[in-house]
Amino acid sequence: MKSQWNDADAKAAIAAYGPNEDLALRVYTTRLLGRDPKLVLHGGGNTSVKTTARELTGESVEVLCVKGSGWDMGNIEPPGLPAVRLAPLRRLRGLTRLSDEDMVNAQRGALLDANAPNPSVETLLHAFLPHTFVDHTHSTAVLALTDQPDGDKICAEVFGARAPLVPYIMPGFALALEAAAVSERNPEAEGLILLKHGIFSFGATAREAYERMIALVSLAEDRIARAGRKVFAAAPIPKTMLPVGVVAPILRGLVSHPIDANEGTYRRLVFEFRTGLAIRNYVDGADVGRYSQQGVVTPDHTIRTKNVPLIVPAPADAASFRAGAKEAVEGYVERYRAYVARHDGRRGPKKTPLDPYPRVILVPGLGLFGLGASKKDARVAADIAENTVAVVTDAEAMGRYTPVGEDHLFDVEYWSLEQAKLGKAAERPLARQVVVITGGGSGIGAATARAFAAAGAEVAVLDRDGANAVAVAKAVGGLGLACDVTEARAVETAFDRVCADFGGIDIVVSNAGAAWQGRIGEVDETVLRQSFELNFWAHQRVAQHAVRVMLAQGTGGCLLFNVSKQAVNPGADFGPYGLPKAATMFLARQYAVDYGAQGIRSNAVNADRINTGIFADGLLERRAQARGLTVEQYLRDGNLLKREVRAEDVAQAFVDLALARKSTGAVMTVDGGNIAAALR
Ligand code: ZN
Repeated sequence: MKSQWNDADAKAAIAAYGPNEDLALRVYTTRLLGRDPKLVLHGGGNTSVKTTARELTGESVEVLCVKGSGWDMGNIEPPGLPAVRLAPLRRLRGLTRLSDEDMVNAQRGALLDANAPNPSVETLLHAFLPHTFVDHTHSTAVLALTDQPDGDKICAEVFGARAPLVPYIMPGFALALEAAAVSERNPEAEGLILLKHGIFSFGATAREAYERMIALVSLAEDRIARAGRKVFAAAPIPKTMLPVGVVAPILRGLVSHPIDANEGTYRRLVFEFRTGLAIRNYVDGADVGRYSQQGVVTPDHTIRTKNVPLIVPAPADAASFRAGAKEAVEGYVERYRAYVARHDGRRGPKKTPLDPYPRVILVPGLGLFGLGASKKDARVAADIAENTVAVVTDAEAMGRYTPVGEDHLFDVEYWSLEQAKLGKAAERPLARQVVVITGGGSGIGAATARAFAAAGAEVAVLDRDGANAVAVAKAVGGLGLACDVTEARAVETAFDRVCADFGGIDIVVSNAGAAWQGRIGEVDETVLRQSFELNFWAHQRVAQHAVRVMLAQGTGGCLLFNVSKQAVNPGADFGPYGLPKAATMFLARQYAVDYGAQGIRSNAVNADRINTGIFADGLLERRAQARGLTVEQYLRDGNLLKREVRAEDVAQAFVDLALARKSTGAVMTVDGGNIAAALR
């Protein structure tokens, strides 16, 4: 591992974050550490600097600027290193016991800025060490060395006096005391190895502490390199394998569970798939059931991934895969409950149980999935799983992967500070649900993508114009795909891609459409057929694919169709548009009838006079002109409420129908009031 220190960048950091040079350089090297996933992953690390600040009254005070929670080290700014008065922190060393709650409170109480984020739970460790700069990471190379049955011996050999060992203790006051004691016995040390946890380095300058981290981690890397690359003996893998887009919805259904059967609500998870040579070497291994089930590489990962991943059979065919995976999930849930029962109440009060479902799934022959309450959480779980693959593979190359025991991990997973967060953050109404929107690149579709994202859904935007789809998706943090819904292959490919990307599909807004015109007695048959292709057949094709995925998940679903006022109340010369839309309105009802028993709802929105460019160029203008009105007046004055109906209003109707758990076969009218087009 090479030092990324660069004098010009260091100067630029001082220019940007001065005048306190120490703090500016602290920001700079914290970013260097945070940007290397081999050192720091999703909050797994922290840094500090001891410096001075000014009280309101003008006197100078010694402070510890330490990483605050919620900040990513890779792009940290000075407010991400809140200043804590050092003297009150140091005085805590005189205590024999300190609860985590009291510790957090004391740390907050010593903040210079009362609005600053919570200082890291490892703050006292930083405060009790005498060094000006202190860096902490969960280096993968160090973990591969320490997560061994004789990790202490290996580490003593590799690091010697440069980094003495601290036995495993859960982060908090007790660990801070022990680390300070070890450091004081070894005043010449450059760092500390926290067994089964990570590594600290320190120095008089930002550069010294950072480069000592790099040097110590390099010693670990050299030791691993001597062991060579581990190739696990592979288990036999079936010749043909189901694609990820088919495997994912089956698994997603199995790890979702009903909240309220009468409401048709489920607690779902969102998926993130990863594969590659290193992952396949790991998941395909004949011995994966041993080395993957030992526990996380460093304890704080357990909050994101639980202690162990689920292993499912290699997916050769859908029926046997479903049966094997179901059995595997049931076994996982049983083992998780037994683990909680073994440790709950052993120390401290009874805990609130967490859901018993996995956050990482290993699929031999395919790769791995990270799972989470959102796509973001799923990515974090997948990142950690990939990191675990690297650490365990290296550890197995040297010996036998042996992390800290499950009793310690229970203490972290069910930590009182984590338990206190439960139920605090209310989820948005469509959180954990995946929505596909066709024709989502502009107009009503784009507004619908924004509305569903605002309601918490994970959004996939399909549009004939791929660039538009990507642009709309990017703005809402979703997936954008080019897809012409009149082409069967394109729809199939897009749905498989969405399933591979999110794990499945819960809601489909079949919105793509276009308005063809012609007097029905004279219109060319090809025009009518063209319109049926997009305004009816594409809806049927999209709905069929959606239902296939929803049935594979077995957790219900929601189909939404954009029909039109034309479906109910024909307008002159609009036969080519209205006829297929009328068929699509009945299509929506047919799906309601045929799949209601499976919990799949099917509803439609009937909108009118929305200025979104769906109509032929100049049509609205010509119609308005014929009545002596502006387009705006024409749109507004044609309805009972005299209000212009906008794309956002239609989008909101789709969201409302997605939330209307007892409605199916319904058509919601969004037209400002048009009695001729009112449904019964
Ligand atoms: Zn740590």
